[in-house]
Amino acid sequence: MRAHAVYTHSVATTAIERKLFIGGEWIETGDWLEVASPYDGSLVGRVARGGAHEARRAVDAAERAMAEPLPAHERAEILDRTARLIHERSDEIARTISAEAGKPMKAARIEVSRAQSTFTMAAVEARKLAGDVVPMDASPAGSGKIAFTLRVPIGVVGAISPFNFPFNLVAHKVAPALAAGCAVVLKPASQTPLSALLLAELEAEAGLPPGWLNVVCGPASDIGDVLVEDERVALITFTGSAPIGWRLRERAPRKRVNLELGNATPVIVAADADLDDVAVRLAANAFSFAGQSCISVQRIYVEREAYDMFLELFLPRVEALVVGDPADETTDVGPLISTGERDRVLEWIEEARARGGRVLSGGELDGELLRPTVVADAPADSKVACEEVFGPLCSVAPYDSLDEAIDLANGTRYGLQAGIFTRDVKAALRASRDLDFGGVTVNEAPTFRADQMPYGGVKDSGNTREGPAYAIREMTEQRLVVLQL
Ligand code: NAP
Repeated sequence: MRAHAVYTHSVATTAIERKLFIGGEWIETGDWLEVASPYDGSLVGRVARGGAHEARRAVDAAERAMAEPLPAHERAEILDRTARLIHERSDEIARTISAEAGKPMKAARIEVSRAQSTFTMAAVEARKLAGDVVPMDASPAGSGKIAFTLRVPIGVVGAISPFNFPFNLVAHKVAPALAAGCAVVLKPASQTPLSALLLAELEAEAGLPPGWLNVVCGPASDIGDVLVEDERVALITFTGSAPIGWRLRERAPRKRVNLELGNATPVIVAADADLDDVAVRLAANAFSFAGQSCISVQRIYVEREAYDMFLELFLPRVEALVVGDPADETTDVGPLISTGERDRVLEWIEEARARGGRVLSGGELDGELLRPTVVADAPADSKVACEEVFGPLCSVAPYDSLDEAIDLANGTRYGLQAGIFTRDVKAALRASRDLDFGGVTVNEAPTFRADQMPYGGVKDSGNTREGPAYAIREMTEQRLVVLQL
C-alpha cells in the first residue's frame, strides 16, 4: 500500500481514497467527492472535496515555492525522474485512467506512454530554455550597446483539465510549467481526479519540493473563481469545452489564458488514396475511447467515385470493433463518460435521422453502451455534421471537387486538426494551405498527436499551442537586458 492512497478492499472492487495535495501535504477536508465508473456505476474511489479556501491555500503554497527558484538542471532532473516513475508504474496508472474515465485499457496504456514522453520532452526544454541575442547595432539607436533577453517564469500557473485524458493532459500543463520554473495549482475534472492525484504522488516521489504542484478537487466554479480573481495566478491554462474556456478568458482580461478546446474533426479522402489503409485508420480513430477525444475523426468526406468502395471497406471495420468493458484488454469502444452524454448523442442521431440522415451502422445501444455509429446524408447544418459530437459517431458524405471538400471541412466553428488522404502532392499541399485548422495531417488520421508537436486550434478551438517546447514559451516572459559598452 502506498503512503498517500488508501485502498479500501471490498468483495469485488478496490476503491481508492485520496486527499488533496497542497504545499507538499495531503489534506483532508471532511467532505468527499465520489468517483464512479462510467461503465457500471461502481465506486472507483473518493477524493477530498475542496473549494475556494483550499484553492487560496494552494496559491499561497505555490507563491512560497516560487520564492525559492529551482535551477533548470534540478527541474530537468525532477522531470526525468517523473518520466521514469511513470514508466515503472505504468500498469497502475493505466488502470486508474481506465477505471475513472471508462477508457479501454488499450487506449489507457497509450496515454501513459505518451505522458512519459511529455515529461521527457519537458525535461529537454528545461535544459535549453534560453533567450535571444538582439542585434543592437542593426539600428543607429542601438550602436554601442549589447542586448539579450532572459526567459523568466511568468508566475503561478492555474491549470484546469478535462476528463478525457486525465493523465496526459494534466502532464501537458504540469510538465512545461515546472520546466519553465512555475509552480502550479491544478484543478482536475471532477469525474477523473484520481489520475491527477496519482501524478502528484509521483512528483513528490521524484523529489519535487513542496508547493510546486498543488492539486485541488471540488466545485469548478469556486476553484475557477480563485484562479481568475487571485492576482498571483499569472496564467490559466485550460483544456475543455469551448463555452467554458472562452468565458474564463473574458473574465480574466489581465492574465494570459491559454485555451485548448473542442473540434468537429474532418477528413478528406481522395479517390487515389489507399482506401484499405484509410478504412483501417479511420475506423480506429473515429471510435477509440468512444469518440471522446478532441480530435476524434467525426466527418469523413470521400471523393464521389470512391465513395461506395470506401464504405464497403470501412463499415465492416467499424462493425468489427469490440464494444464492452474498458477493463478488458480486447475492448476498443467502452462507455461514454455519463448516461447523460450517451443520451445526448442518441438525440443528435435522431435529429440527423429526422432530417434525412441514414444510419449505416450502429445508432442503437448494445446493453448500456452506444454502438459505433456511421451516418450518411446528414444535412451540413445538422449537429452531427458541424458541432462537436464527442461520442462514437462519424458522418460520411461524398464530394465532387477538392474545393467543395475543403469548404465542407471548413464549415464548422472549430479549427483544431483536419486531415487528407491522397497520393497527389499538389492536392495535399493545397488542402494543407486552405484547411482552416491548427494542424493538418496527410495520409494519417487527424487524431494523430505526438506530444512534442505544436498542438492547438484556431477559431473556437483555442488560442495557443501545447507541446512542451511551445507551452514553455507561453509560461515564461522575456526580460530584456541592455548593456552600454
Ligand atoms: P469541460 O466540461 O469544459 O470541463 C473541463 C474542465 O473545466 C473540468 O475540470 C471542469 O471541472 C472545469 N470547469 C467547468 N466549469 C468551470 C468553470 N466555471 N470555471 C472553471 N473551470 C470549470 O470539458 P470536459 O467535458 O471535461 O472535456 C471535454 C471537452 O474538452 C471537449 O470539448 C473536448 O474537445 C475538449 N478537449 C480539448 C482538448 C484540446 O487539446 N484541444 C483536449 C481534450 C479535450 P468539473 O469537472 O468539476 O466540472
